[in-house]
Amino acid sequence: MKKYDVVVIGAGPGGMTAALYAARANLKVAMLDRGIYGGNMNNTAEIENYPGFELIMGPDLSEKMYKTATQAGVEFVYGNVEKIENAREAVKTIKTDSEEYEATVIVVATGATNRKLGIPGEEEYSGKGVSYCAVCDGAFFKDENVAVVGGGDSAVSEGLYLANVTDNVNVIHRRDQLRAEKVLQDRAFKNDKMNFTWNSEVKEIVGDNQKVTGLKVYNNKTDEVTTVPTSGVFIYIGNVPNTDEFKDLGITDEQGWIETNSEMETSIPGIYAVGDVRSKKLRQITTAVGEGGIAGQNAFEYIEKLEK
Ligand code: NAP
Repeated sequence: MKKYDVVVIGAGPGGMTAALYAARANLKVAMLDRGIYGGNMNNTAEIENYPGFELIMGPDLSEKMYKTATQAGVEFVYGNVEKIENAREAVKTIKTDSEEYEATVIVVATGATNRKLGIPGEEEYSGKGVSYCAVCDGAFFKDENVAVVGGGDSAVSEGLYLANVTDNVNVIHRRDQLRAEKVLQDRAFKNDKMNFTWNSEVKEIVGDNQKVTGLKVYNNKTDEVTTVPTSGVFIYIGNVPNTDEFKDLGITDEQGWIETNSEMETSIPGIYAVGDVRSKKLRQITTAVGEGGIAGQNAFEYIEKLEK
């Protein structure tokens, strides 16, 4: 069994910052992730609201954060966490699909995953025209028309990115008003390659068995159903927390988000949570990073107190 002072579960911006702060306090830190470091930043095309960079691509910011953390001594480990055991003991156990770890402090930074529409054709055409990642798949639709579903920051910012790489972007939203921040809305409304289909719900994704060819769209004002031709559909309708493995710890709210106080402490001593996985209002890279700093520093103080 491998032993650490701190195990951070999830290597997005919150997790990487928590790990960085703990490592800089001379603690032995592992940062566990089931995939590549960076979390949802890897699915974000252009980031314009992370101070210090006027504009940076999500994967580039991931790379920079990873280098900062590993340079400070953080060890990156692959693994899919299945369970936390002895959660209330001084030394806790983290079980992954391949290994067991012991840690005095655990920081949960597992983030959130794209919510699915749950409609016919979505699973069938996933990777064949249905995508949740413009930066990964946008280039496949060069000179083609694509649709974006949703009206939040993700739908509009990724829609703007797609407008650069495709011929036309049709944003399909269930209401007649966007939820996205004003600056993004203004830019999207001014963009000639973006158009908006309001009060509309996508009910089915249709295709020719090989790839997507269109969407069945229901207008909730007129009750009309139309088939809108498109080669691709990018779905950005919010997120669900990645907390299935932690539900039995009793630290989540009724929707599965982890509850903490302003020190990032959960109700279990020595277990902290940071970033998108927290029950909170604003989910941003900046907020995740700030929370990571707080948790990393508190991990150090918690361990110091235990050792006294
Ligand atoms: P979000 O803010 O929760 O917005 C989800 C959007 O999808 C809403 O417009 C919602 O419609 C719509 N929607 C939800 N369920 C739907 C369904 N079943 N069918 C059709 N439409 C549905 O999600 P997000 O845009 O992914 O953003 C997630 C978090 O990350 C937010 O806190 C956001 O601020 C943050 N974020 C920030 C940035 C940035 O700062 N640039 C970029 C990306 C994400 P209604 O409006 O009608 O509810």
